[in-house]
Amino acid sequence: MLDIGTAYQDLRDGIRAICAEFPDEYHRKIDEDRAYPEAFVDALTRDGWMAALIPEEYGGAGLGLTEASVIMEEINRSGGNSGACHGQMYNMNTLVRHGSDEQRKRLLPKLASGELRLQSMGVTEPTTGTDTTKIKTTATRKGDRYVINGQKVWISRVQHSDLMILLARTTPLSEVKKKSEGLSIFLVDIKAAMKSGMEVKPIRNMVNHETNELFFDNLEIPAENLIGEEGLGFKYILTGLNAERALIAAECIGDGYWFIDRVTAYVGEREVFGRPIGQNQGVQFPIAEAYIEVEAANLMRYRACALFDQGQPCGAEANMAKYLAAKSSWEAANACIQFHGGFGFASEYDVERKFRETRLYQVAPISTNLILSYVAEHVLGLPRSF
Ligand SMILES: Cc1cc2nc3c(=O)[nH]c(=O)nc-3n(C[C@H](O)[C@H](O)[C@H](O)COP(=O)(O)OP(=O)(O)OC[C@H]3O[C@@H](n4cnc5c(N)ncnc54)[C@H](O)[C@@H]3O)c2cc1C
Repeated sequence: MLDIGTAYQDLRDGIRAICAEFPDEYHRKIDEDRAYPEAFVDALTRDGWMAALIPEEYGGAGLGLTEASVIMEEINRSGGNSGACHGQMYNMNTLVRHGSDEQRKRLLPKLASGELRLQSMGVTEPTTGTDTTKIKTTATRKGDRYVINGQKVWISRVQHSDLMILLARTTPLSEVKKKSEGLSIFLVDIKAAMKSGMEVKPIRNMVNHETNELFFDNLEIPAENLIGEEGLGFKYILTGLNAERALIAAECIGDGYWFIDRVTAYVGEREVFGRPIGQNQGVQFPIAEAYIEVEAANLMRYRACALFDQGQPCGAEANMAKYLAAKSSWEAANACIQFHGGFGFASEYDVERKFRETRLYQVAPISTNLILSYVAEHVLGLPRSF
């Protein structure tokens, strides 16, 4: 049986060694400056961690989602934020599994060496939100090109990526039998697109997360940039979304352990009324409860990753892992900020920064309500509500 306390220790030691070069002060300054952790992501790339999921024949490490999730977990557990670079992990599977031989040969070696970054995925739109099959961005075939028109919102890391995986409708909704049909995914060369039909408008937000509105006005991309078969994009993007959910679960678990470590150390030392505040059960219990929940979420995360790595359906497990992990890290965050008292609000303690960062995962990449709805309808077979 997998011992979740010691699993993948060699991998953890390797990633911890890099993370140790980037202490709290580094991540705090990046957050204050609203900057991108360029040096950190470069170091991860240089040492091959960003190529974890690329098969060895293309210069990558040939690891599975489980190992990739451990990398993400350790970044967050060290006080960093994988949000700066997790796109490369969840997008990679989409390209590796559904890309053509030509695309794999052309791109994977460059992604493995760090010459190119594949950090962006463009799915969400302002007018359709979570109702993904209703997206309005279209891709129309014109000779050897597709012409893209429409709008996206909250598309992250566009300014720190070379490539983006874009979801667009290739057959109108009115002409397909099932609403999930007629959608396709494409590789977009971001820098070329910014010169010829794609406008990028940054969105300032609560977290230091580089995210943007995108406007497409007759953007032309080569037809060879289509990934897989035209019309099956929704099915392909689900591979990426399940990977994303499992990876973000691991990140939340990393956050959860970070909060628990910090608050446990703090309440053991901080004395009020002549004794450590951690001696009060009112302080102990929320911390213990959060720890129990993080550990339980961790089991579901490993299960989701194992199913994904075996090529088996893992939608339910990936969703449940993300739900449990995001909830438990948020509870750990609340206990951590609460028992730091006023100091929890001081930037130099890093608690408020991590608190903001982990809060995002109640909403993105899928909101808690939509996971509950998925489980109710797809796992429990209850009537569909939409
Ligand atoms: C910082 C950040 C980075 C992001 N990065 C990316 C990215 O790189 N690529 C990308 O494609 N997207 C990205 N997103 C978008 C993200 O995936 C969406 O915000 C998320 O899926 C929720 O969609 P929405 O914002 O449109 O909310 P909506 O769909 O408008 O929903 C709003 C709220 O209503 C509730 N709700 C909606 N429908 C139901 C229902 N049927 N039943 C019950 N409750 C419901 C939910 O609580 C939900 O949170 C990012 C978002 C943020 C904030």
